[in-house]
Amino acid sequence: MPTPALPIPLGVCVLPAPHPNAARAVRYPEYVHEILGHVGLCYAAIPYTELESRLPELRILVTVGEGKLPEAVRAWVEDGGAWLSLAGLCGLGDLLGAEPLPATYSLWASGLRSLGEGYLENLSENLSPLPPGYPLGAGEGLGERLGGGLHFFGGLAVSPTDATVLATCTDSHGRPSELPGVLARGKCRLIAPDLVGSVVHIQQGRAITRDGIPSSDGTGPTHDGVLKSDDGQVLDWHFDRQPVPGVPGLSGFLTPVADAWVELLLQNIFALASLQEVALSLLWYHPCGAIAQGHLSHDTDGNNPLDAEALLAALEEADAPGTWCVILPGYDDALLQKIKDADQEHELATHYDALDHPWSEEEFRSQHERLVALFGAVPVTNKNHYLRWQGDTEFYGWLERVGIQLDQSKGTSKTGEVGFNFGTCHLYRPVAPDGTVLPVWELPTPTQDLCIFAPPEAATPLLDAAERFYGIAHFLFHPAHMRKPGVADALKAVVAEGKRRGMVWRTGRELVQWERARRKAVWVSATELELPEPLPGATVLTLDPSGDVERWGFKFRLSTSPPAPSPGRSFLAGKGES
Ligand SMILES: [Zn+2]
Repeated sequence: MPTPALPIPLGVCVLPAPHPNAARAVRYPEYVHEILGHVGLCYAAIPYTELESRLPELRILVTVGEGKLPEAVRAWVEDGGAWLSLAGLCGLGDLLGAEPLPATYSLWASGLRSLGEGYLENLSENLSPLPPGYPLGAGEGLGERLGGGLHFFGGLAVSPTDATVLATCTDSHGRPSELPGVLARGKCRLIAPDLVGSVVHIQQGRAITRDGIPSSDGTGPTHDGVLKSDDGQVLDWHFDRQPVPGVPGLSGFLTPVADAWVELLLQNIFALASLQEVALSLLWYHPCGAIAQGHLSHDTDGNNPLDAEALLAALEEADAPGTWCVILPGYDDALLQKIKDADQEHELATHYDALDHPWSEEEFRSQHERLVALFGAVPVTNKNHYLRWQGDTEFYGWLERVGIQLDQSKGTSKTGEVGFNFGTCHLYRPVAPDGTVLPVWELPTPTQDLCIFAPPEAATPLLDAAERFYGIAHFLFHPAHMRKPGVADALKAVVAEGKRRGMVWRTGRELVQWERARRKAVWVSATELELPEPLPGATVLTLDPSGDVERWGFKFRLSTSPPAPSPGRSFLAGKGES
């Protein structure tokens, strides 16, 4: 008996943008689909114009932005629907238990009042049914864990009327305010900060036209006369870093803040789904239900063959593949062949040198062409030498036009930046200034060589974060440092520890191939997933209070697909193979 197709009970609707020159509560609101697409969540994207007619099929509605929702939403809520609003009262503030907060002074160009920049703090344990002591939300308090709360950029300032305040906001200097951050009333919730726009802003940072502002502790001297991705980072040296355990004097960006925002979104969605007794499903991030993945990259600066041999030996001992970002002129053919032939199946990638050469598409293409000739194959991954970067997202266009699918140039170039200075341990697709999602993936580089760039003690919090946020633990080791004391041992130790935690080590090419195929999957009903491309190890999690897998503080039951599902095959959530 085939299972009858059930309509998808979770709808996500982005409100129309206000007219030009009007203040707005959210930026890049359509990126919510990119965020939830990466999560693999079973939901229906509902165009604003279709919302009213499609309400009857929904049990949970997520809206993004401020504007006017149809009155029919009120009747739908009163009839038992659950509504989560991101930065919008939508003309239905009485349902959310809040009203707009006016500007403190108003004469010209006021209107909607933004939350500005600040931090979400004092998350109540009522936010979601989390176990006591769970890091985000309950018990120990978010502020304590993050050192200053969850950094946001923009949102909607409101005043509670009869809602329960589940979290408050501070301003950008950590000073308390009366502004609520998360509100609940019945089955309605409001997350007032611009969650989606904050994720984009943190992941991408600002366009880079000049040096950044250094930290005041001497560990983050970004003012160095070289334009690099970290010159555009927007996280705060004081509030967004935490002390690296066991290393007095060193702090790092140890919590991936953008990933924490995604978690907050998911926790609210799962909390409402639990209230509604809706068994939401999602296609899990990693093959075979793995908790996280590991990744090693190697920039071949100097191209010394003895260093390369030392790295090859270390990778063989660790039994892990590496992505070799080769800088021109590269290694000789025999050595390149040896890298290609290694049992670990390493990847040859590009390492664009815009330190000794110009930053231009012409130069990039010229280096890329020579590396393609050297490799005898078209590379998939690139990282820029010194993490060079200029401008906004133009560089992603250069990558796209030569067929590079994955970039790693957003990251840390100073010891005091160690960690997630771009807020994520996940692959993500960047957004152009006009809101277009670009068809290239970014995997930031959170550290460079342990023992040289960062103390080996930094490995543990980076692995912890990848595990805690179900992402990718990425460690960069240069061959040029491989013969220095402790470095090879640090590489082997971090790989072994990752494996002990259930991480599988993969090259950039493997990571992006998996993600591309995974993102082609389509939920056609509440229980049925179509996989247009083979996705060996595809795993579906379904919200289930009696499930035996815990993710984001909620219980799920897990089902893994047969080893190699053929294209076009459906995957029934919770039922294994169809
Ligand atoms: Zn380099």
